[in-house]
Amino acid sequence: MTVEAKADAVNSRETFDKYSPVDGRKLGTYTITPPDGVDAAVARARKAAPKWRDLSLDERFSYLERLREIIRRDGERYAQIISEDTGKPLVDSLMTELMSIPLFIEYYEKEAPKALKRRRLMPQLLFPGKASYVEYFPKGVVGIISPWNFPFQLAVVPMISALIGGNTVVLKPSEVTPMTGELIDDVFEEAGFPPGVVEVIQGDGSTGAALTEADIDMIFFTGSVATGRKVMAAAAKKPIPVELELGGKDAMIVCEDANLERAARAAVWGGFINCGQMCISVERLFVVEPIYDEFVELVRREVKKLRVGAPDEGSDMGPLTFSGQMGIVARHVENARKEGATIAVGGEPMEGPGQFFEPTLVLDVTTDMEIYREETFGPVLPVIKVADAEEAIQKTNDHKFGLTGSVWTGDRQKGIELASRMESGQCSVNDLVVSVGNPALPFGGVKQSGFGRYHAHEGLYAFMHQKAIMAAPDLLDVEPFWFPYAAKYPTVLKTFKGLLGGSMVTALKGFYRMLRMTQTRAGTKGTEE
Ligand code: NDP
Repeated sequence: MTVEAKADAVNSRETFDKYSPVDGRKLGTYTITPPDGVDAAVARARKAAPKWRDLSLDERFSYLERLREIIRRDGERYAQIISEDTGKPLVDSLMTELMSIPLFIEYYEKEAPKALKRRRLMPQLLFPGKASYVEYFPKGVVGIISPWNFPFQLAVVPMISALIGGNTVVLKPSEVTPMTGELIDDVFEEAGFPPGVVEVIQGDGSTGAALTEADIDMIFFTGSVATGRKVMAAAAKKPIPVELELGGKDAMIVCEDANLERAARAAVWGGFINCGQMCISVERLFVVEPIYDEFVELVRREVKKLRVGAPDEGSDMGPLTFSGQMGIVARHVENARKEGATIAVGGEPMEGPGQFFEPTLVLDVTTDMEIYREETFGPVLPVIKVADAEEAIQKTNDHKFGLTGSVWTGDRQKGIELASRMESGQCSVNDLVVSVGNPALPFGGVKQSGFGRYHAHEGLYAFMHQKAIMAAPDLLDVEPFWFPYAAKYPTVLKTFKGLLGGSMVTALKGFYRMLRMTQTRAGTKGTEE
């Protein structure tokens, strides 16, 4: 189905068919949850919320431990389902979809008790005797809308992050990968989560839209900028909090002193993993002039080595998962060619059944080309020649996206300095992509790549309200700030000036005097004698 057909189909179907991206075979028919079905799922999640919230962290983790064990036990079978659904190599299904789930559960098992416990803050001099605390409580019913490119991982990581904090979850997976949506439903059911704690509603864009309109307390959305805008507009009507994890056009900067062999292999892995359908894939490869020819030749050789094929054929790269991508990828390459770029490798859809596109290396890319400006989300690696790292950083930042990026140099400190100047949510030095799997690092974008962070402690806080509590000592009866104000003005003014002048002694004396005046109600002409 093309993107246009996908949009036209919204609201006009009760079911949808799933076809294999590998050979076009029909793999199944799925029911679209209608709006009243979405409301019913949300109502079940709301009903389940208080009991789930009131469980202890240990009790909630007991369910997640079961989930982890099921994924460990049946991971191989799950990888096959995910690969059949998406067309990605089995290695990718295991490594990028499934492996992160046990890792995140283990990380949060250690970190959540620390991150979510009530914290007592340092006493503040001007609030003597008063105890200050920060604590967290769940937002409630969270709507999670996930994309098709990593349909397991990008749904389950936010789901477990929300569940740990005591939220209940309604997941709307992508219609492009309904087999994985069904798998997620089954896995949570098998783990024995109480009814309503996790609801999975299959469907299309209309189902996602209905979820954003339903009685939920937060939306966590991963997908395109265009849909992200609609989701945010729906959230704004209520208003409820929204986190947007959107597209990317990630830069890789290769400096003169980099280990070129390593950088070339990384560029090809980072550009073609998951057939380039990854928000953090390398979509702009900046290479400095002095090593340009040598480096590009290394990259070209690596691209030529890629094995393209069905998941079970030991391929490095599968087909495009979503048929609509075929047109976008072909258009970006074709337009680049017309605008003066050189297609050094590939550039065409592949013969035969399935949605295969050749691994494509594009040279002489300039900043005005569509392939430079827009997210391609396919097996295409555009290369841009720059004079030096300075020009690369300036160009990297002069772009609407800012998700992740990487810097390659023989000098790690220099790499860190450049990384810290990159306008992105994450940046790696002599490394790429894998930082997203480090559960201790927050993940999320800047600019049109979205906002909000998940993973790490931030991934728990994303689904929690923060509450501040200040508690006065039991024996305190009056306050310096309280009524009556009469006759207090000169003292307040002196205290104010003391505070601003940095004289804590004057300020404290002032507070003490104000307290005394409140206590004695001096100078007051009240209505009662
Ligand atoms: P889409 O925006 O097309 O879809 C994302 C999800 O939103 C799908 O479940 C989709 O349902 C649903 N949806 C569609 N219309 C609506 C609507 N009106 N209201 C609510 N939900 C709706 O993105 P893709 O699935 O095509 O994913 C690819 C995009 O996601 C790329 O731009 C990529 O960069 C980005 N992405 C970002 C990541 C990040 O972490 N920042 C990670 C991975 C991908 P359906 O598919 O059934 O139509």
